[in-house]
Amino acid sequence: MRSLGDLNGSHVHYVVQDGREDVHGECRPAFIVQDWGQTRAALAAGAAVNLIVLRDGDTDLPGRTPVQWETSREYASAHEFATWHFPEECQVTVAAPPAGEAPEGESGDSSHG
Ligand SMILES: [Zn+2]
Repeated sequence: MRSLGDLNGSHVHYVVQDGREDVHGECRPAFIVQDWGQTRAALAAGAAVNLIVLRDGDTDLPGRTPVQWETSREYASAHEFATWHFPEECQVTVAAPPAGEAPEGESGDSSHG
């Protein structure tokens, strides 16, 4: 159980809503820099935090500094633009195969020369 104020410095995910179109909705690592002394329950009820978000360089923001400050961002356990969640709550929202179908092309070979 987290206590009051100790979310400062927590590693979370931020759901981006800017930059290149193909990165909209992607999670990027972020750190809470101001949690306003809230508990998880308070955050879930709509309280907000300030975050420093680490972006994926030119993939996300061509020609711009890949670090951004986001203020008064709300927690959402669902994957919504411009909200944040804890990594263990991350919901991958890419299209999943229909129930009963196994994904194809899975391979453990990750050699890249
Ligand atoms: Zn995530």
